[in-house]
Amino acid sequence: MARRRKLYEGKAKILYEGPKPGTLIQYFKDDATAFNAQKKGSISGKGVLNNLISERIFTGLETIGIPTHFIKRENMREQLIKKVEIIPLEVIVRNVVAGSMAKRLGIDEGMVLDRSIVELSYKNDDLGDPLVAPEHALSLGWVTEEELDQITGMALRVNDFMCGLFYGVGILLVDFKLEFGRYIDGDGEEVIILADEISPDTCRLWDLKTMEKLDKDRFRRDLGRVEEAYQEIARRLGVLPKGGLEVVK
Ligand code: UDP
Repeated sequence: MARRRKLYEGKAKILYEGPKPGTLIQYFKDDATAFNAQKKGSISGKGVLNNLISERIFTGLETIGIPTHFIKRENMREQLIKKVEIIPLEVIVRNVVAGSMAKRLGIDEGMVLDRSIVELSYKNDDLGDPLVAPEHALSLGWVTEEELDQITGMALRVNDFMCGLFYGVGILLVDFKLEFGRYIDGDGEEVIILADEISPDTCRLWDLKTMEKLDKDRFRRDLGRVEEAYQEIARRLGVLPKGGLEVVK
């Protein structure tokens, strides 16, 4: 069978032309990279699990009125999504100090923040996604002031929703990354919607009782039991396929 036209291949996903104008198919791969692609590998079954986990979170967000690119899951590795113009910002929300923030400021991982932080990075692999101030994003014309207000407000609402979702299944949401895009809605209005994915690739998720890491840090830091961590998140969210992953990988 002839494949659809491939439009873009990233580190963890492939985008194909969708069945209708304004749509795309987002395909989730098992490939994993870290440290700006200096470390490469594969996490068996990750694509399937991230597809299911991201579907769970995006559909939940839609129910609380956050517009997203998600239309429907097509199969175990693919979703039908709305085509957007991606805003070149990685929007990072932090509840607990970890990763690059811990390193940059010399603070131990694990300090709970008094208030959540929304951080912006310029989405540019060649530059290693550098941290930028909101003023950079505005002055360089990447977003308007109104768009930035919307993005920040949405990011905090996503955080509230996800903190509760994960707390309910015994997981601490440490931090995560979001991407947003511009989309022309049914009324011909340009709106900002949530795009990309939300999964253990893009979040830090710690078990509340043991503080065990259940996310991509297991791959980045060679902690072992990487596949198991992704499966555990899917299992707790109630989206692990019945009969196990072997049938669908
Ligand atoms: N993150 C991501 N993609 C990136 C950079 C970060 O999904 O290109 C996620 C990462 O998994 C973590 C959060 O954003 O949940 C904050 O990442 P951080 O800035 O600490 O960078 P890292 O330590 O991952 O390099």
